Amino acid sequence: MVLDSLSPAAAALRTLPLAGRPPRREPIVPALGRRPRVHLWHIGCQMNDADRERLAEEIAEIGFVPEAPLDEADLAILITCAVRQNAEQKVYGKFKELVPWKHRRPGRAIALTGCMGVEHGSALLERLPELDYVFDVRESEGFIAKLQALYAGELDGPVPLPASDRLSAYVPIIGGCNEMCTYCIVPFVRGREQSRPVGEVVEAVHGLVERGVREVTLLGQNVNSYRDPGSGGRLPQLMAAVDAVPGLWRQRFLTSHPRNASPQLFEAIRDLPTACEQLHLPVQAGDDSLLRRMRRLYTVADYRHIIERAIATVPSLALSTDIIVGFCGETDAEFAGTEALMQSVGFDVVHLQAYSPRPGTAAARRPDDVPLAVKKRRLNRLLALQRDISLRRNRRLIGGDVEVLVEGIGGDGRPFGRTRQNKVTCLPRGRVRPGELVRVTVGDASAWQLEGEPCGAAAEP
Ligand code: SF4
Repeated sequence: MVLDSLSPAAAALRTLPLAGRPPRREPIVPALGRRPRVHLWHIGCQMNDADRERLAEEIAEIGFVPEAPLDEADLAILITCAVRQNAEQKVYGKFKELVPWKHRRPGRAIALTGCMGVEHGSALLERLPELDYVFDVRESEGFIAKLQALYAGELDGPVPLPASDRLSAYVPIIGGCNEMCTYCIVPFVRGREQSRPVGEVVEAVHGLVERGVREVTLLGQNVNSYRDPGSGGRLPQLMAAVDAVPGLWRQRFLTSHPRNASPQLFEAIRDLPTACEQLHLPVQAGDDSLLRRMRRLYTVADYRHIIERAIATVPSLALSTDIIVGFCGETDAEFAGTEALMQSVGFDVVHLQAYSPRPGTAAARRPDDVPLAVKKRRLNRLLALQRDISLRRNRRLIGGDVEVLVEGIGGDGRPFGRTRQNKVTCLPRGRVRPGELVRVTVGDASAWQLEGEPCGAAAEP
């Protein structure tokens, strides 16, 4: 149609089609003549470690070869982390490495999942033209079904998973988090809490034990708020059900919130033969005002009370915690509170990190006003303090016996394993083999590990 208002010259021009984005390229799926192979890569917390194992199982179930070396793979899956800025940078670095890998053979594809997939969603497909798929690892069924349809001609029934080369495995029991700590992005990228039914967890543990696993860590961002969707049973009941799995020697759980650390939980650690005497209970700060700004919803006195109760129930309990240094507005006096708490509790291990804001969190709207040099100075001060405390606590074990699950052979040829309190222990060459549960007399100790002599087999639970 030519509009009357156009000049005679303009009327001769033809309209151009509206410029639009070209439709997104669908990945090319080549005819392979064999089973497709997947390379898995992950970064971040233990949840991602567990997600990797679960994805490997799902991929094997539909007939893909999971855990292939990158050079042999047709599809690379990145399981990512958005909790810290530098983790995201590492993901982008890994992605950059994959671009030439993808171009070396037509038909290769790259998928991304994990927290970055949730945080940025399909915007990543726009930002990274070489990326083929983004999916939510919590709802991987859709992605798995798509792979199954795309590669249907190459699939030939499930691929049997090899015996596990690990003696320990993570078992997710609850995803997401209902707390809203002001510095944390987890509730935004992992959503609200969702517990797995007891039966499903127990079945997963059975499967792992059949493949050679002897120790499981029940996993969740807020693991001690676990609640079975059917019975309403809490973590102690789940631990009792896991304890009954024949062939399992040890269980632990990670990570706990102090608000949900109940006396029944400590009794479960004391009473269940497989429950290890270890509690990781993040405190984050040793000052009430700081804790309020972090929205941790307990006081330092509450935390101390919980720890006292835990130790009264399980005297041999090893304690570890997480602490953030240099949170928004942290004063010298507030920092001194954290230092005093560390000194008085005497944790076995402390995971320390300097605060860095995560976009999208409540704390990111506050000024990040503790200078980097001050954060570093405080961090180093606490690192040195903790080194002394860990050394003191480990040296107390010299001359005593500990139970060690031998896990592997170190670079120096010596077997190593961990005690029930999760302390790494090195043993003399040639005396024990991976997979054995032994009693060990502790001969020496540093801040980081124990050295010992095997003195007999340990009783299996
Ligand atoms: S409890 Fe842990 S995972 Fe949940 S919001 Fe707080 S720091 Fe994040």
